[in-house]
Amino acid sequence: MNLDKISLNRRSVLKAAAVLGATSTLGLTACSTKPELATKPKLTGAIDKEGNLVQPWTNWSGNQSCAPNERLIPKNSDELAGMIKNSQQKIRLVGAGHSFSPLVPTNESQMSLAYFSGISNIDKTNKQFTVASNTFLAAVGEQLWQNGLSLENMPDINTQTFGGAIATSTHGTGFKYGSMSDTVKEITLVNGLGEQISCSQDNNTDLFNAARTNIGTLGAVTSMKIQAQDKYYLKETSWMMDLQEGLDQAESLRDSHRHFEFYALPHADYILAIALDKVDESELLSETVNSGDAYETFKTMSKVIDTLPFLRSFIINMAASTVGKEQRIGRNYQIFGNVRDIRFNEMEYSIPAEHGVACLREILATIKKQNIDVIFPMEFRYVKADNIWLSPFYQRDSCAISCHNFHDKDYQKYFAAIEPIFWKYDGRPHWGKIHTLTAKEQSARYPMFNEFLKVRQVMDPKNIFTNEHINSVLGLS
Ligand SMILES: Cc1cc2nc3c(=O)[nH]c(=O)nc-3n(C[C@H](O)[C@H](O)[C@H](O)COP(=O)(O)OP(=O)(O)OC[C@H]3O[C@@H](n4cnc5c(N)ncnc54)[C@H](O)[C@@H]3O)c2cc1C
Repeated sequence: MNLDKISLNRRSVLKAAAVLGATSTLGLTACSTKPELATKPKLTGAIDKEGNLVQPWTNWSGNQSCAPNERLIPKNSDELAGMIKNSQQKIRLVGAGHSFSPLVPTNESQMSLAYFSGISNIDKTNKQFTVASNTFLAAVGEQLWQNGLSLENMPDINTQTFGGAIATSTHGTGFKYGSMSDTVKEITLVNGLGEQISCSQDNNTDLFNAARTNIGTLGAVTSMKIQAQDKYYLKETSWMMDLQEGLDQAESLRDSHRHFEFYALPHADYILAIALDKVDESELLSETVNSGDAYETFKTMSKVIDTLPFLRSFIINMAASTVGKEQRIGRNYQIFGNVRDIRFNEMEYSIPAEHGVACLREILATIKKQNIDVIFPMEFRYVKADNIWLSPFYQRDSCAISCHNFHDKDYQKYFAAIEPIFWKYDGRPHWGKIHTLTAKEQSARYPMFNEFLKVRQVMDPKNIFTNEHINSVLGLS
């Protein structure tokens, strides 16, 4: 076995983890007590009123699925209003299906606003634009750029819709930047009575405070006005750091870069730090992108693990120690979006920023102590406080810590071991990611929880936009 061949670059860290994960799924790693994954019955689809088969639905990772008995795809706002007004059953809105929590599943009506797409009203003076709710994040970068504008920040993928992203307070990293919901200036929706309503800071203020993180419970959002910024180029630099050194420097790195995050490798002594900073166009030509041959690396690593499963920590550490510094430069929207071609499930909590490092230290120690079978890197990001009632960042600067496991591995044991650590640090779960909290615990975490419920009751008095999960997290019967 040629160990010299194991060298990783930044991009291959996540991918190599996938290969290792696949290997351990096959029962090849040392501590692998092979999880018994529940075999889900195959969904066959439901028959609608006209006797047609409605195809079943599944989310991105495959952990959520359902067989709606109706799929509603309104072509315009009038049709949308009519469908809601005349609906005899519950409706759940779906965007790109990238949520891991059961926000979307229903065996009644599933509604997509697929026809509500595109941007309009680009206002260069105020740097604002209107986006139809089902527009994908990836779809706006180029058009905004041509108009001299860009989003101020983005999450680590761009395949969600604006409607879905806003519904769950989707965020990127950057201590001076809030979630995507915090960039919303105005929202238009059709509520549970089929009425079209707009809201902003000065108009229907309570609705605005509720609608910017709405988990699909106030109605169908048709469009939003978004605050943008002047267009900008970004330089992304990534480098491996010794774990202790990385944790010690996390806050100063956070403060000295426009965006800073890191990936912590479980069972290892390293973190992968990633910083993004604004650069001038003149720097574009002077840099080259370092791209290594990731696939060769994966193959070599997985072969090593196959042969020497008990050396997991050693192998990951050795591979991590070879990762060199890398840089990418480009238009911000080309740098922000990553391709996630390895499916996984995820839990994420946001905790007060000042406790982020301590919380992560405890998580890493727990993984080691309990010898939890996970190698998927954990993401550690910072998000600015906002004033949105159900935002995990409500009135506190936060640190968002995400734990993942491969889609075909049992995540329950891992997440069950980690979740109480988040609670200890007063964590608030990401609405779109896996957690076990109900309304009882959520209401204690959100000071304006009851205000949200009051607005929801007015917007959806017939409880149309609900499912079992919504009933549980909001305490509806
Ligand atoms: C690979 C991957 C990477 C991710 N990265 C990040 C990240 O970096 N940061 C982060 O914060 N999150 C991240 N997420 C989570 C994701 O951003 C959220 O779950 C987001 O809500 C998904 O958007 P969607 O368009 O897929 O919406 P869906 O998952 O389809 O729906 C989410 C919610 O929005 C509601 N909804 C959708 N459209 C409308 C509408 N028009 N009106 C009213 N309600 C609506 C739905 O009812 C549901 O409650 C990631 C998820 C994946 C799978």
